[in-house]
Amino acid sequence: MKKIEKAALFMQENRELFQCPICKDTFDQLEGNSLSCLNGHLFDISKKGTLYFLLKGTKNEYDKEMLSSRFNIATAGLFHPLLDELYKCIIEKEDGHTLDVGCGEGSQLDYLTTLGLKGQKIGFDISKDAIQLAANHFSTAFWCVADLAQSPFASQQYDTILNIFSPSNYKEFDRLLKKGGQVIKVVPEKDYLIELRKLFYRDQAEKQTYSNEVVIEKFKEHFPSMEMKRVNYSFELTQSLFEDLMKMTPLSWGASPSSKEYALAHPLQSVTIDVCVLVGQK
Ligand SMILES: [Zn+2]
Repeated sequence: MKKIEKAALFMQENRELFQCPICKDTFDQLEGNSLSCLNGHLFDISKKGTLYFLLKGTKNEYDKEMLSSRFNIATAGLFHPLLDELYKCIIEKEDGHTLDVGCGEGSQLDYLTTLGLKGQKIGFDISKDAIQLAANHFSTAFWCVADLAQSPFASQQYDTILNIFSPSNYKEFDRLLKKGGQVIKVVPEKDYLIELRKLFYRDQAEKQTYSNEVVIEKFKEHFPSMEMKRVNYSFELTQSLFEDLMKMTPLSWGASPSSKEYALAHPLQSVTIDVCVLVGQK
């Protein structure tokens, strides 16, 4: 089956998971590859089987090179031990619905599927390039371009919301989650990519540190009985993975050209992944 046909079939069977991002009404028709709501707003499934739900073009900082570097290093296993731990936190349901908020190039949702994540999986990102990469590589989920602030997802349909290194919108999470559903959020801990920060910001001690306190406090406000798990490990790098690491991270935006040159001349052999997995239940 072609990707576009597979996506049309998915929409036919799972229309209740979506809503029109313009009027918030349900999608009541799928004609060919065109999805339309009760008020006639149309959205077309692309050849790659993705849906584009943005109402206006949105600029974001993640360019193609950055995304493909992230894809390389993520599929090489940079986040696998983290995702192994995260997977243990998911309350699995045979017919559960998982939404990956800010899924990027799709590798994390795909890896969770290889671990055994069941049910319907939807990944979305505001970056069209990210979703194209995801759709090129992975058929384990339904991919769409969307904005969490103008969400095309229907109320109380989701069992699990994944929020891995991406911004939150708790009001929206609350609307999307079923009763008993979970939000699983991953935030960096203080030693996350510490070696790279030290390399990029040799003379700026203040940029070498990071605190997630505010983010965790905010999560706690919304999920007072939350659980927390810290995951810390070292990931070995080759020269080419080191270069991917340099390109994939927003840390490089703040680094001067001379620090980047210095970093390239002093490649890291390994890097620390230090994160906190926050689990909240509705
Ligand atoms: Zn509409």
